[in-house]
Amino acid sequence: MPIRILSPDVAAKIAAGEVVERPASVVKELVENSLDAGATQIAIEVQGGGVRLIRVVDNGVGIPPEEVDLAFERFATSKVATADDLESISSLGFRGEALPSIAAVSEVTLVSRSKDELSGIFVNIKDGAILEKAKRGCPVGTTVTVRNLFRNVPARLKFLKSTATENGHISNLVTQYSLAYPEVKFTLIVEGKTAFRSTGSGSLREVLGAVYGLDTARAMLQVKFKQEDPLLPSISGFVSPLSLTRASRNYMSFFVNRRWVQSRMLTYALEEAYKGLLVTGRHPIAVINILLPLQDVDVNVHPAKSEVRFCNERDVFSALHKAVRETLTAQSPMPTLDTLQTATRTQTAPAPLPAFDYKADAAAIRTPLATPSPAEPPPVRGALPILRVVGQMANTYIIAEGPDGMYLIDQHAAHERVLFEKIRDQRVKQAVEVQGLLQPLPVELTVRQQELLELQSEALSEYGFGIEHFGERTYLVRSVPALLSGQNVSQSLVEVLDFLGEGEKGDLREEIAVSLACHGAVRAGQALSHEEMRDLIRQLEQASQPRTCPHGRPTMVHLSSSQLEKGFGRK
Ligand code: ADP
Ligand code: MG
Repeated sequence: MPIRILSPDVAAKIAAGEVVERPASVVKELVENSLDAGATQIAIEVQGGGVRLIRVVDNGVGIPPEEVDLAFERFATSKVATADDLESISSLGFRGEALPSIAAVSEVTLVSRSKDELSGIFVNIKDGAILEKAKRGCPVGTTVTVRNLFRNVPARLKFLKSTATENGHISNLVTQYSLAYPEVKFTLIVEGKTAFRSTGSGSLREVLGAVYGLDTARAMLQVKFKQEDPLLPSISGFVSPLSLTRASRNYMSFFVNRRWVQSRMLTYALEEAYKGLLVTGRHPIAVINILLPLQDVDVNVHPAKSEVRFCNERDVFSALHKAVRETLTAQSPMPTLDTLQTATRTQTAPAPLPAFDYKADAAAIRTPLATPSPAEPPPVRGALPILRVVGQMANTYIIAEGPDGMYLIDQHAAHERVLFEKIRDQRVKQAVEVQGLLQPLPVELTVRQQELLELQSEALSEYGFGIEHFGERTYLVRSVPALLSGQNVSQSLVEVLDFLGEGEKGDLREEIAVSLACHGAVRAGQALSHEEMRDLIRQLEQASQPRTCPHGRPTMVHLSSSQLEKGFGRK
C-alpha cells in the first residue's frame, strides 16, 4: 500500500481510541468540561453501562452559539491559546480533543446557553457531522447527551465488560471528582436510580461520608500541611487512622492541582508514611490534595490526562510523606507492643507491587469494612474430646482413640475445617497470612474468569491475593494466601474463580474461604507422619465446629466403646 494521509473519519476514530477507552472515559471528559465551565451543579445519568446513554447536565457558563460548531472540531479549545499556555495549565481540559473524539464514536446532542443569551442552541451530531442545529429554550449551562457509544466501533464494544462493571467504573469516577470538588453538587443516576449524591456544601468530610460512609468519614484524620515557601507543594485532605484500613489500594485518591491522577510515586509516598504501622496487605484510605505551582507539573503526558509529571518529584514525595506521617503521629495512637507483634508476625511477604488500574467498582467502594466479629462462643456442643493418634489407614483416614472409643477421621475433611476457620478468622481480623511470590506468576484467564476476578477483586485481595492486570487476559499473581503455599497457585486461583462462578452464592467471602480451605488441605491418599497427624488432630480440637467440613460433610466417624463391646459380644 502506498503511503497516504488517512481520511478525517479514520483519523478521528484512531484519535478517539486514545481518549475514549470506555464509557467512563466519556463521563470523565464531560465532567471535566463542566468543571472547567465553572459549574456548581453537575448531574450525570447513565443507562446500559453508559453504552446506551450518557447525559451530563451542568449549570456552567455555557457555549456561545457561534462557537458550538467549533467545539466539535479537533484541537479546538477555549482553554489554551499559545504554546506558553501549555507550561501552566489551570484547566482540566486543554487538548481540544474530547468532544470531537466522543462524536466520532457515538451520537451526540448538545444543548447549551451562555449567560448573555436569551435562548440556547441545540446541535445533533452523528459520525462527526452536524445533522441539525436549532435554537432552543433552556437554562444557562450545558447538557451533552451521548447515545449508542461505540456502535460504529464493534471491536471496542466487544472489549467492554458487563454493564455492572462499566457502571462501577463510572460511579468510581464520579465519586473521585466529588472528592476533588466538594463545593460542586454531583448527582449520579444509574439505570434510573440515584446511585450517588454530594451536597456541594464544600466540606470534604461530608463528601467522604457520602462516598465511604459516615463512620469512616468521622474517623478520618485531617491533613494540613502548608509550607512557608509557596513554591513548595502544600498538602491537604484526609487519611485513615491506623485502626481503619482496607485490603485494596483502591481507596487512595490523589488530586494534583485538583486533577485526579494515578501515580505510583504518590501511592508509594503515602504507604511509606504508614510503613511499619499497618499489617502487610492492608492499605490506608486517603484523599490527598496536592497544590503546587502550575509550571512545576506537566499534565500533558497522556491523552486521558490521568498521569502527571512533576519537575521536582522529590519535593512532592517528601512533602506528602511528611504531611501524612505528622498527621498520624499527632492524631493517631501509635500501636502497642501487642499490635506491633501481630504486625511483624504476619509480615511474611514483601508487599505486592502496587497495581494501578482505576477499576474499583462502586460496589467495592461501598463495601463496608469488615467488622471484627464478636468472639466466637466457647465450643460446647460438638466439641471434641482429647484424642490420641493411633495410625493412618489407606493414607486417607486417621485412626484415633478417645475416652469413649475409636474415631476414624477423614484427613482431608478435617484439614479443610481447620484451614477454613483459620483463614475466615484471619480475614475478619484483617490479618490474613500472605505469601509473596519470588517471581510474579502469569495466569491466563477466560473472559468469564476475568470478569469474576474484576468483580471480586476486593474480596480476593482481602484474602491475600495480589493480582495485577498484565495485558489482554493475562494477570500477574504476586502474592497468595499463605495456606496455598506449596500448591499449584494458578490452578487454585482458577478453581476459586470457577467456584465463584457456579450457581448462586450466599456469603461470598465465606465461600472464598471454603474454596481456599479445600485447595490448601491435605489430600486423601497422602501419607502423613505421626507428628503431622497429631498436629492436625490438635488443631481440629480447637475448631469451633470440628465435626463437619465446611461443605457440611462429617469429618469423623465414631465407634463408641459400647458399640465395640456389642460388636465383639462382650456385652
Ligand atoms: P477541551 O476541554 O480540551 O478544551 P473539549 O473538546 O472537551 O476540549 O471541548 C471543546 C470546547 O468546548 C472547550 O474548550 C469549551 O470551550 C467548550 N465546552 C465543552 N463542554 C463545555 C461545557 N460543558 N460548558 C461550557 N463549554 C464547554
Ligand atoms: Mg474537555
